[in-house]
Amino acid sequence: MNKAVVIGSGLGGLECGILLSKAGYRVTILEKNALPGGCIAGYWRDGAYYDTGFHYAGSIGAGQTLDLLFKGLGLENLPWQFLEGEEVEADGRRFYLPFGLDAYAAALSEEFPHCRAELRAYTDFLREVVQMPLVHFGEGRAMELFSRSSREYLESAISDPLLRKVLCGAATRLPYAPELPLYSFAQINGSFIQGAARLHGGGETLVKALISAFDAAGGTLVCNAGVRALEAGNGRVSRAVLADGSTIEADIFISDIHPALTNALLAPETLRPAYRKRLASLRQTGGYTGYSLRFRPGSLICPKRNFFLAPANGTVWDGGISAGLFFSAPKEGEYATTADILVPGNRPEEAQRWISAFNAVLPGLADSAEGLIVSTPHTWERYLGLPEGSAYGIAKDFTHPLSTVISPRTPLENLFLTGQNLNLHGVLGVSMTALYTCAEILGQEHIKKQFGI
Ligand SMILES: Cc1cc2nc3c(=O)[nH]c(=O)nc-3n(C[C@H](O)[C@H](O)[C@H](O)COP(=O)(O)OP(=O)(O)OC[C@H]3O[C@@H](n4cnc5c(N)ncnc54)[C@H](O)[C@@H]3O)c2cc1C
Repeated sequence: MNKAVVIGSGLGGLECGILLSKAGYRVTILEKNALPGGCIAGYWRDGAYYDTGFHYAGSIGAGQTLDLLFKGLGLENLPWQFLEGEEVEADGRRFYLPFGLDAYAAALSEEFPHCRAELRAYTDFLREVVQMPLVHFGEGRAMELFSRSSREYLESAISDPLLRKVLCGAATRLPYAPELPLYSFAQINGSFIQGAARLHGGGETLVKALISAFDAAGGTLVCNAGVRALEAGNGRVSRAVLADGSTIEADIFISDIHPALTNALLAPETLRPAYRKRLASLRQTGGYTGYSLRFRPGSLICPKRNFFLAPANGTVWDGGISAGLFFSAPKEGEYATTADILVPGNRPEEAQRWISAFNAVLPGLADSAEGLIVSTPHTWERYLGLPEGSAYGIAKDFTHPLSTVISPRTPLENLFLTGQNLNLHGVLGVSMTALYTCAEILGQEHIKKQFGI
């Protein structure tokens, strides 16, 4: 039986572990922390559960991409709470945007009747992208859209500047920057608008489901097992060296950690300097400060929507600060237990400012809160090793698509990459990437059969 080692038990690592185990590999996932799950793992404090890097997922409606991917992984019957829409405040006006691409276009057409045709064309374009065939990585239409600018597209497709602001209003789900490729913009926005949901029990529910699917397929997860080196020779990795000095051999190695950190596990002479240098020099997307609120029991009904504030000054393209308020779906009942306000950058001292700003949108929010925990990009860097606490990994750049979209293949024939740094971040992006990674190992036909695509 072929052996595989996966470095890191983030979403991508667990998904690759499940796919390879189901294909007959003996898989061991090595996780440096005491708890698995990486960004999607939540935590408990003083009897309350807090989500961290998973508040909701897109394209989860029946037959949509994430739904197909999760079913193919064996993650069926998860307790999703579907969201009805989201609220965006821009230039002092409040907009309610229902989910579903047609409903979204129709609601915005009421507010911007002069842009009705543009909105129809916009949502048709998002539909085209979210329905693009899976499996083909770095090819065809997706790669063409990776080499186009989101900003230029929006400026030419939507004539009203306020409407453009609203369309970019849910800004915290994307690493907005002038270089943002059109593919990332359309796939992420399209997926959430198409069908978004949170999980009752949050990231913990997802991690438990992934681990039980991995267990059921015969895999082994080892925590407190950080990999400190990969030994290689003749163009192949032979074994992983763990922090305690022990070693583990395998036929295939998959790294779910940042590609530059993966390279740093190898002796310098193993890789061409140009490859190593290229991956080490790429820009990271920014990190977030999180203000996690805990609510008094029975004080605030949990809204089936998230809330966003568009930048008060400037736009998302030139560093304007946007913020999002994300509720966790309570395990039971209708009352909110916890929620997260996410604001880009390192702002541990600004909690009251942002709680007040969202209280104006959702009166009662501040009075219902009885606890606050603040996390910053440093928290993420320390806990998971994310370079600069980057929330969404390597920044994609439409002017350099070939060097910022990273292949799952490496110069070493049995070392593969996966996770949010390669193609697209988020639960959807990482799940798509796990499929691309495993298609390199198992072949596209195997993957197509497994997922019925
Ligand atoms: C604040 C925040 C909010 C977010 N909200 C959402 C959301 O609502 N919806 C959504 O879809 N996405 C969201 N995301 C994005 C999503 O969480 C990530 O894209 C995804 O979880 C990344 O998964 P991954 O597998 O790439 O890696 P990671 O989650 O980074 O996992 C890597 C794992 O490797 C481990 N590791 C590191 N070094 C080693 C080593 N040397 N040896 C062994 N193990 C190692 C780490 O401990 C970690 O467990 C959010 C992210 C952040 C930061």
